[in-house]
Amino acid sequence: MISQAVQDYLKSIYKLQHLNPDDSVSTTDIAKDLDVSGASVTGMIKRLDTMGMVDYSSYKGVKLTEKGEKVALEIIRFHRLIETYLKEMLGFPLDKIHDEACRLEHHISEEFIDRINQLLGEPRFDPHGHPIPSKDGVITEYEEKPLSEIEPGGEYYISRLSDTDKKLLAYLELMNLTPNIRIKVVDKAPFKGPITISYNGSEKIIGNEVASNIFVKI
Ligand SMILES: [Zn+2]
Repeated sequence: MISQAVQDYLKSIYKLQHLNPDDSVSTTDIAKDLDVSGASVTGMIKRLDTMGMVDYSSYKGVKLTEKGEKVALEIIRFHRLIETYLKEMLGFPLDKIHDEACRLEHHISEEFIDRINQLLGEPRFDPHGHPIPSKDGVITEYEEKPLSEIEPGGEYYISRLSDTDKKLLAYLELMNLTPNIRIKVVDKAPFKGPITISYNGSEKIIGNEVASNIFVKI
């Protein structure tokens, strides 16, 4: 049985590794992400190293081993399927599903998650647009770009929303700017100015900061 703390660490390392695929993760980044002290991170990383979940050296940082990545993907599968269930079946708003899923993911069985998966029709993406790993750890990802970097012209589908800022997520949901919406950049003011977009049959103006949190498939 893998403890809740171990699960959270593996999930965090996976996420951080993903943000910067060329680098290994520093213990400082992990401490920041999990909001714990540097000393407790070092202690836990040494434990994970002994368990064969990560490779760690004090000057190179942390990297998941194949075994560690497998466990991380399993937890992420649970997390994202629960998020989808909360949104689709229970009507939770987008900004609330992450925290709720973080609590639930440690307390449900494999069978429970399999049934949720069946009920939802085996979804491949969660409501933020994050890919849901398959049972054998396969993850599909789109090539994407932030909307703020798209030049006016073509039409794109929203692939994913950044989920770091909850208030922003609530705003995007209110504006109906969610995954799979087809969107067109009509005009872009210079020097990171506002961006005029068109979707669902009308035009709206959004800030550059907002656009940088929306990703589109390219
Ligand atoms: Zn998500």
